[in-house]
Amino acid sequence: MSKPNVAILGLGIMGAGMARRLLSANFPLAVYNRNREKCIPFANDGAFVAATPREAASRSQIILSMVADDTASRSVWLGENGALAGASAGSVLIESSTLSVGWVQELETAAAQRACRFLDAPVTGTKPHAASGELLFLVGGSAEAVDAARPVFSVLGRDVVHLGPTGSGALMKLINNFVCGVQAASFAEALALIDAGNLDRVGAVSILTGGAPGSGILKRMADRIAANDFTPNFALRWMAKDLAYALDGASRKGVSLQTASAALSVFQHAIAEGFGDEDFAAVTKSPERPPKS
Ligand code: NAP
Repeated sequence: MSKPNVAILGLGIMGAGMARRLLSANFPLAVYNRNREKCIPFANDGAFVAATPREAASRSQIILSMVADDTASRSVWLGENGALAGASAGSVLIESSTLSVGWVQELETAAAQRACRFLDAPVTGTKPHAASGELLFLVGGSAEAVDAARPVFSVLGRDVVHLGPTGSGALMKLINNFVCGVQAASFAEALALIDAGNLDRVGAVSILTGGAPGSGILKRMADRIAANDFTPNFALRWMAKDLAYALDGASRKGVSLQTASAALSVFQHAIAEGFGDEDFAAVTKSPERPPKS
């Protein structure tokens, strides 16, 4: 069976890995990125570099966006040069960025007006999983659209979980990252207390990571701290964004996420200290301290 033409909108940490993976699997690929320089290596490897999301979409049956946030997503899908303006009826639009539930529902309505099929399909996994095709897709939308997108999901992911109608994937991803963000913030505060209590840091961290609190997140952060390497796999400011979207989504459903609020304030403090572009593990560099009385 011939491979569908695919467009990737957004060649950041995640989108670049996904685009490279599709090229390796010989998919005809169009790429778009706001900063065009990031497209150059893909052009050299045979991708078509589109000047606008509209142009990328007009050549493709499956269009996948992997950009920063709601603002970025609006800008690649909507407007005169947006992907929706170029997408043919029947094409499958996949929004894999981590976004607010409200925005993906609005986007689904706009896609339906163009007779396109829409999936919210954010992912778990990070830079190496994007590069190796081992992402987990958390999907909302119709079963028929999920089936139509399978050729792409099967190259990019280790599995696809279809959670329900539009917005279900976005909500599950925000719940996932809210739990991660809370653990990361609590680890930052734990380290502050370890230091303030003059405990041996290395020993204390190994007690935490080797015991009941030793989740995957804590272990990954501990490795980053030990290596003093905060090169971003997942930027700190995107974790703050996800906590904010989780809080918004929860409050619309009448649920209060008090731990997410507290974690968001720890992350906002780290952003104010200049660590927003570093890996989220850098939240441990500047735990928020209450003013001294
Ligand atoms: P990233 O490296 O910061 O890349 C962000 C991408 O969004 C870039 O292509 C950037 O274009 C584009 N962008 C930002 N603002 C834009 C705007 N206003 N208009 C058009 N394009 C815009 O981020 P990432 O780590 O790849 O993450 C992408 C998405 O996946 C985010 O929603 C993130 O939360 C989610 N996610 C990330 C990970 C991870 O581990 N990294 C894991 C799961 C999910 P420029 O190059 O022009 O700036």
